[in-house]
Amino acid sequence: MMIYDKKIGIYFSTKINDNDFFSGFGTKKTKLKQIVGRDRRIFQLKQIHSDKIVCFNYLNKQEEGDGMYTNDKHVVITVQTADCVPIIYADKKKKIIGISHQGWKGTQLRLTQKMIRQFLNLNSMIKDLRVAIGPSIGSCCYNIDEERLKIFKVEFASYPQSVFDIHLDKPFLNLSYLNYLQLIEMGLNKEQIDFFPFCTKCHEKHFYSFRRDGLPIKKEMTNFVVFS
Ligand SMILES: [Zn+2]
Repeated sequence: MMIYDKKIGIYFSTKINDNDFFSGFGTKKTKLKQIVGRDRRIFQLKQIHSDKIVCFNYLNKQEEGDGMYTNDKHVVITVQTADCVPIIYADKKKKIIGISHQGWKGTQLRLTQKMIRQFLNLNSMIKDLRVAIGPSIGSCCYNIDEERLKIFKVEFASYPQSVFDIHLDKPFLNLSYLNYLQLIEMGLNKEQIDFFPFCTKCHEKHFYSFRRDGLPIKKEMTNFVVFS
């Protein structure tokens, strides 16, 4: 279940947060330093819309990439989004956390599946993983051009065509659902996955939206995961 914590302005998944794990999907209201404490190191990648995954360690300075994982008990790993899909991962048994950011490019490159493979390489078992898909632009608003539609139809030919939607003769894509289906394809079951049902562009009160607010990107939401 996805719950809004009004006091600190985050949405969080009850599948991830417990005595050991603390995570949140940011809103306009989120002030991360106040939430996690000023003495915690906050780590963020230079996001490049890739499928590059980085393991956090204390030698990391500014690195490029769009996925990150760690078993470090002190660092807060984060991604910034404003319409793109933030995804948070936790191996409840091996105590590993991860986070990734995927727009259309990362989704097409199957970054979320690569994150799961990364966990498997660390000897995680699929059954111990919990994943939360955060607020992103919905299929109500995510209009794509014909060329991009073609790319997705080829890459995800075996997926349900309900990830695409046509209204007013224009193609729309359900990014969040497409990432969900990628997780299902990796062997997770629906009980292990939480997702956020609203659209960042439609819900101006809570979220920044690149598609709504335009360039230059003024503000983004900070999404994070850390050990409690
Ligand atoms: Zn919308």
